[in-house]
Amino acid sequence: MTKMLLNQLNFNFLKIILVILFVQINPAIGKEKLNLTYDNIKVFLEGNFVQGGLVIGKSDPKIEIKLKNKLLRKTSDGYFIIGFGRDHPDIAHLSLKPKKLWLEKPISIKKRIYKTQIINGLQKKMVTPPKSFYDRIIKENKSIKYIRGIDSNIDFIFQKFNWPVKGIVSGVFGSQRILNGIPKRPHYGVDIAAPKGSPVLAPIKSIVRMAEKDLYYTGGTIMLDHGHGVTSVYSHLSAVNVKVGDTVSRGQKIGEVGSTGRSTGPHLDWRVNWFYERLDPALLVD
Ligand SMILES: [Zn+2]
Repeated sequence: MTKMLLNQLNFNFLKIILVILFVQINPAIGKEKLNLTYDNIKVFLEGNFVQGGLVIGKSDPKIEIKLKNKLLRKTSDGYFIIGFGRDHPDIAHLSLKPKKLWLEKPISIKKRIYKTQIINGLQKKMVTPPKSFYDRIIKENKSIKYIRGIDSNIDFIFQKFNWPVKGIVSGVFGSQRILNGIPKRPHYGVDIAAPKGSPVLAPIKSIVRMAEKDLYYTGGTIMLDHGHGVTSVYSHLSAVNVKVGDTVSRGQKIGEVGSTGRSTGPHLDWRVNWFYERLDPALLVD
């Protein structure tokens, strides 16, 4: 009897330890609120104050606001978006101009611990592309970069995100990748393994900015614009069912899961950016 009780206690103790560990390595869990006051102007913030996190803010629509040096677009009722990349420093600087001067306040951004992912057996040309492909790769990267710089005045980003495909998460945001033994850039997407042909759905209302069948790295690729600098990329698609300029609603089919480009099997690689800051898509969905 006593032994059972002790076991039960030990078990509960272990559970508590596991929860503490989980929260420590995942500071991303849970949205937080933060209220700041600049002179008499209030700023309300809510979201993930963590590397890879997105935060929605609200303030007086008539007053200028910026993160670091970036002037932020506001909706007519004063909502705005800020985001923190994978390697964002501990402090972000949010500035407001209530009168003539900019006033700056620090915001703490939590650090994350990223996984290391080792992938072997990739075709050599996919790990280190042959020189003959350089021009093509540079051109493709330029188009992607251009789209990530767009600051649209559409307000779709303030709605809720759904997962774009049903499947198993096989790769997480930020992991360091070692391909065939060569350390590469971190993986900025969430990989979702699903059978070839599985429908890929727009996670939120969006405007299509890219609809390509065959990019070197990402194969069939769609880029969606959600407004206020937030864009997302859907890669390795076997089918692309939209065209540039289309407006798609949440849940609308945009393409199909595939394994085109640099890919080892059918999956969707889903990436989200706030301009050039890489965000963790998993933080945007439940
Ligand atoms: Zn991926």
